[in-house]
Amino acid sequence: MPIRILDPHVAAKIAAGEVVERPASAVKELVENALDAGATRVTIETQGGGLQLIRITDDGEGIPILELELALERHATSKITSDADLGSIATLGFRGEALPSIAAVSRLTLTSRARGSEQGAYVRAREGVLERKGAAGCAEGTTVLVQDLFANVPARRKFLRSEASEAGRIHRVVSHLAMAFPHVRFQLVQNGKDTFLSLGDGDLRRVLAQAYDAATADALLEVSGDDSEARSALGFVSPPHVNRANRSAISLFVNNRWVQSPMLVQAIEEAYRGLLMEGRHPLVCLRLTVPTSEIDANVHPTKQEVRFQKEGAVFGLVQRAVRQVLVAHSPVPVVAPQANAWPARQPYQLFPLAASPSSQQTAFAVGLVPPRGPAQEPVRSEQTPMPETLPALRVLGQAGATYIVAEGPQGVYLIDQHAAHERVRYEIVQQQVKERQADVQGLLEPLAVELTPAQLHTLEEWKSTLAGFGFQGEAFGERAYLLRGVPAGLRDAGPAALLSEALDLLALAQDPSRAADSLAATIACHSAVRAGDTLSVQEMTVLVRQLEATQSPHTCPHGRPTMLHLSASSLEREFGRR
Ligand code: ADP
Ligand code: MG
Repeated sequence: MPIRILDPHVAAKIAAGEVVERPASAVKELVENALDAGATRVTIETQGGGLQLIRITDDGEGIPILELELALERHATSKITSDADLGSIATLGFRGEALPSIAAVSRLTLTSRARGSEQGAYVRAREGVLERKGAAGCAEGTTVLVQDLFANVPARRKFLRSEASEAGRIHRVVSHLAMAFPHVRFQLVQNGKDTFLSLGDGDLRRVLAQAYDAATADALLEVSGDDSEARSALGFVSPPHVNRANRSAISLFVNNRWVQSPMLVQAIEEAYRGLLMEGRHPLVCLRLTVPTSEIDANVHPTKQEVRFQKEGAVFGLVQRAVRQVLVAHSPVPVVAPQANAWPARQPYQLFPLAASPSSQQTAFAVGLVPPRGPAQEPVRSEQTPMPETLPALRVLGQAGATYIVAEGPQGVYLIDQHAAHERVRYEIVQQQVKERQADVQGLLEPLAVELTPAQLHTLEEWKSTLAGFGFQGEAFGERAYLLRGVPAGLRDAGPAALLSEALDLLALAQDPSRAADSLAATIACHSAVRAGDTLSVQEMTVLVRQLEATQSPHTCPHGRPTMLHLSASSLEREFGRR
């Protein structure tokens, strides 16, 4: 074949692949446009994981009628005019590629009314070719409707996973944009169901409660650091006992842009050095502000990578800011040998968060070890799980049918029986799943459970995970599932309720390992003793022994404390004996 210049339509389709890889990337680009337009409210609706329909409505500045058609043209942008502007980009978009790229692979309708203008208008394109345009009665702002995404690119469609997994990715994108813009109200409606809502009141912790859960968000520690050259790092990091099996909960933003940055991840992991168990990763939401002239966002078409001009300064800022807050909240200052000595005056200690000024001091003194150089050696060799292990405890009794009262060499402990049993069950369930030996409770009679189409979808997608946890059965007609077995040991939920809860949880899961963690936590919760259950001394003794043997005895799988410690010295002090 001779060399020819590609037909513009073919070229557009190829280029589209770089920007819109999947429905979630289309959602990201369109919401970023809304944010660049100064929107304070953005509503995202999707059907069928975004493949059938994506509709994004904003209250931003809108597009003047005369520019509507132009917005669909390649390299048409209102955000930069010269290459000099590339040196200091303050908007999320700047390449003028998103709208034409999405239009090339869908049916796209762009409806807008510019702020202060009397009249709105719309343009509609099919596979990049303008089909219709005209006047539209609409509110100020912009609505982009995308239908049948990738219908004309079967090759792309084939590579996409199930609708449920694309829906999960969209959820992830929207929740991250909400973290980047806590002052904007985001609403995500998937298949008619509200799946994410942020209030837009600027409270990042509340956004995180939506993205994760309230208990996790409550446990997070606030980070705030800056340097003398106008760089800052603000956000939240998890205390060491709240952690994940992978890095998917590390969310990083640079000048409001959600980015992937191995360098920043490394800075964070340096900060956690010695505080986290091997193979575990923190939950982080960190927002960096850096002078726009110091970064290059034009590294990749999806703009998810950035280059820093002063990497070292940014690394140091992040590492210090995170380390500082972790050390200040470290439960027990056991990082270096001399720290084994308990501080002389120790007040009531609520594991694992609270730290007295005196223990903070100690933590600071021994914990703030320079990240590099010979000084780190003792830290590495002393990476003991010391703060996490429990001394042997003797059960004294039960209080309020809810708390186990026990004593140990260092004082008195009140143990929340539900939280403690949850921790025990959680680690047992995880171990069983890992060894492919889930404890199954067969049902005497198979149970037909009616499920929604979305739940059936999820069930299909997560079939092997569910089986690994002990769910057994098979599809039964169009809308039901015949349940034959469930994870053993349920106390307070029926098999059908557990299945349905598990499916709802998996539908929103963003990656397999997190899905497995939260499934294990749910099963643990429903198989743990409740507050209010009267326990015999023997039962309590067994429970405390089991708790002592867990890897993280101080918190339940949701991050709540399992126990309260009244140290011997604080009792002495309170009673005026010292
Ligand atoms: P870019 O964002 O890189 O400029 P796009 O193709 O995403 O390129 O958008 C092209 C142009 O269309 C933008 O520069 C902007 O002027 C306009 N536009 C797109 N979406 C919106 C929106 N939601 N509100 C206002 N203007 C928009
Ligand atoms: Mg854009």
